[in-house]
Amino acid sequence: MIDLWYTENHQEDTKFSIKVKSHLHSEKSAFQQIDFFESDTFGKFFTLDGLMMVTEKDEFIYHDMITHVPMAVNPEIKKVLIIGGGDGGTAREILRYKSIEKVDMVEIDERVVRLCQKYIPQTACKLDADPRLCLHFEDGLKFVQDAKDASYDLILVDSTDPIGPGEGLFTYDFYNNCKRVLSEVGILINQHESPYYDSYAHEMKRAHSKIKDTFPIAQVYQFHMPTYPSGHWLFGFASKKFHPLEDLKADAWNAFGLHTRYYNTDLHKGAFMLPTYVKESLENA
Ligand code: SAM
Repeated sequence: MIDLWYTENHQEDTKFSIKVKSHLHSEKSAFQQIDFFESDTFGKFFTLDGLMMVTEKDEFIYHDMITHVPMAVNPEIKKVLIIGGGDGGTAREILRYKSIEKVDMVEIDERVVRLCQKYIPQTACKLDADPRLCLHFEDGLKFVQDAKDASYDLILVDSTDPIGPGEGLFTYDFYNNCKRVLSEVGILINQHESPYYDSYAHEMKRAHSKIKDTFPIAQVYQFHMPTYPSGHWLFGFASKKFHPLEDLKADAWNAFGLHTRYYNTDLHKGAFMLPTYVKESLENA
């Protein structure tokens, strides 16, 4: 018997490994290397260019935190733009709200969507099952450049890291277009990397300093992702109008009656209470 392990370098001298039962699929798309695996502990999972994207076991944490935080600040959100998110988990969560009228999802790589539909229906289950969702296979940077002013209430940037196809989604050009495309009450949530290892903390600071320059309200919140580098991950919350704590509408969100395994409106408040070293690092960004 050969022991098969998936191993990812979290920094030069630090690796994270999962014992795998099988390597289900491997291909190089026009944009990136795509691999699907199966393991006992994390279930099925997939990687892009050797970086963990989604596992069946912990995806609920990431997808709860990207969608329910903004919905609890503005429960009136109707029009949503998802950039990236090819696994479908973000679309699945946002479409649980009956009040959402329209979701445009812009994923650069159609192969990610098609392979997730085949191997990880747990996240991809709504990608061809809800008439409110429209899939666009193109670059999110280009999509927001072409989108009309004030056409969305919420933009969820569920992207890869700022290397490869995701690079343009961490630029002033992209953030300025997001601001233009958002309505006056709009909210932008974006991938903010991790504060812990130096290379990720560097990207966190770069993203935050650009968002802070672009939006009058720019806050960062945290959550625990066991399979991401260091397990400590961040999203950015930016808006022209809403503060994520002062404008939290806990009663209105609870009235939706959604059961969520990670998110709740108490955790919402705690998620914005950052450790001192993270606060200091963001203040100096
Ligand atoms: N939860 C994941 C994480 O943070 O590791 C992200 C998951 S989702 C699979 C990321 C998706 O963003 C990928 O499918 C990738 O193809 C897509 N993506 C990267 N750059 C993009 C771009 N410029 N426009 C649209 N989608 C993009």
